[in-house]
Amino acid sequence: MLIGFLKKLAALVPADQFSTQRDQLVVAAQDESTLPGVRPQAVVWAASTDQISRIVRLCYENKVPVTTRGAGTALEGSTIPLAKGIVLDLSRMTDIQGYWPDDLQIQVMPGIIYDNLNDRLKRDGLFFPPSPGGSGDVATIGGMVSTNASGIYSVRYGGTREYVLALEIVTGTGEVLKLGNRAVKRSSGYNLIDLIAGSEGTLSVISSVTIRLAGLPEGRRQVAFRFPDEVSAAKAVSEMARYGLDVAAVEFLGRKVMEALNLLKDYGLEETPALFLEFHGPEAVLQSNGDVATSICEELGGSRLELAEGIRPWEIRHYVTDAIKYRRPGYTIVRNDIAFPISRLPEMVAYCNEMADEHHIMMHVFGHVGMGLLHALMLANREDTEEWRQALEVNDQIIRKAVELDGTISGEHGIGLGHKNLFELEHGTSVALMRKIKKQFDPRNILNPGKIFDM
Ligand SMILES: Cc1cc2nc3c(=O)[nH]c(=O)nc-3n(C[C@H](O)[C@H](O)[C@H](O)COP(=O)(O)OP(=O)(O)OC[C@H]3O[C@@H](n4cnc5c(N)ncnc54)[C@H](O)[C@@H]3O)c2cc1C
Repeated sequence: MLIGFLKKLAALVPADQFSTQRDQLVVAAQDESTLPGVRPQAVVWAASTDQISRIVRLCYENKVPVTTRGAGTALEGSTIPLAKGIVLDLSRMTDIQGYWPDDLQIQVMPGIIYDNLNDRLKRDGLFFPPSPGGSGDVATIGGMVSTNASGIYSVRYGGTREYVLALEIVTGTGEVLKLGNRAVKRSSGYNLIDLIAGSEGTLSVISSVTIRLAGLPEGRRQVAFRFPDEVSAAKAVSEMARYGLDVAAVEFLGRKVMEALNLLKDYGLEETPALFLEFHGPEAVLQSNGDVATSICEELGGSRLELAEGIRPWEIRHYVTDAIKYRRPGYTIVRNDIAFPISRLPEMVAYCNEMADEHHIMMHVFGHVGMGLLHALMLANREDTEEWRQALEVNDQIIRKAVELDGTISGEHGIGLGHKNLFELEHGTSVALMRKIKKQFDPRNILNPGKIFDM
């Protein structure tokens, strides 16, 4: 990269917002995926829309790739600056720009952290529901919009995309655009907001986000059930959906996940497949929903799972990934985040179990199953070429099975680099149209190039 370019870039921001230091480049080289990092040439911490616009314009003029970064918690390599270039870090842009509690709306800069936002909103009895499970304490709102993040409460409240009312974006030429407004119902124009949400930084840099909020529920009740096998637990979830039961969260944890949690935290959990549920509403609703869930679970052989004094289901759920990693230190996680119609959940869980048995692979199955979202995490030794190849092959087959069931290769974490090879399997010839759309936003292909699909 031209030294002259880096000089011009450095001149656009104060000195403490620009770095070419090795340790900063190493951090910016990776996300939370297990994919190898690629070091950028420089990191710039933007502080305003105007700075973002000037930085992107300079990159456009010099054809330098820009990878936008929030907290870097993406799990599929979306945040790795594949084509070197620069990393544009927005984690210092944390201001609340407008707040309308009576309208249940807020406008924020993209770098604000999810849990910090909710801590502020709690005072007014409000919250932003999507709740990415294990990363809410670090994930930024810009990152959540860009990956359309979802979480334990999305079965009742929806994912991030459903909450975005307006965005301010900077396109690949440096142009600033405002999309949407604070009206909660609109019927004019193409829905460009939905195009940006989930686009993993490939169409624009999001510089401001206006979202809807929800009222904190009057009451909450959490309850856990144990099941004789994984498929019965999955059937219970699909029965609850068929019955129209209003669950705020329903998490599935397979037998192997429960084993792993006991090993990590000594919770003393019964090592059977389990469902953790939460209901929201007034006491009478909590009671009746709890009764209905109990009778559905019991009909399928389930019974109440009692947790040790003071242990809450969501604390246990929070440690799932750590527990899986702890099981075989030094091994690498091979992951997926498939989603499919809820009625196919028992079939999908059975398929994962068959694959694990057939290939003698340690597989951990869990997820926000109320939305038909499932993770089948495997542990494999990267140094053992055959074991590694087999884990990738099984992962590939599981993802293909989800598509066969009319599902998606990614319901949660995005495509990044991890699932790029299967993108066309799901989206077919519409990928050609996506390429044309990208060109409109980013004519020189400088925004997070090489992600989702190749141009
Ligand atoms: C332990 C753990 C648990 C997780 N659990 C969940 C979960 O339950 N649900 C879920 O959905 N995800 C989950 N994730 C994945 C991840 O936390 C989410 O995708 C999160 O939304 C990413 O936010 P971030 O700020 O870290 O984004 P980053 O990783 O920094 O970026 C993600 C993508 O968005 C782009 N981007 C970031 N900010 C902007 C911006 N302002 N403008 C344009 N593009 C931008 C990046 O270029 C990249 O492509 C989990 C991750 C971990 C490590």
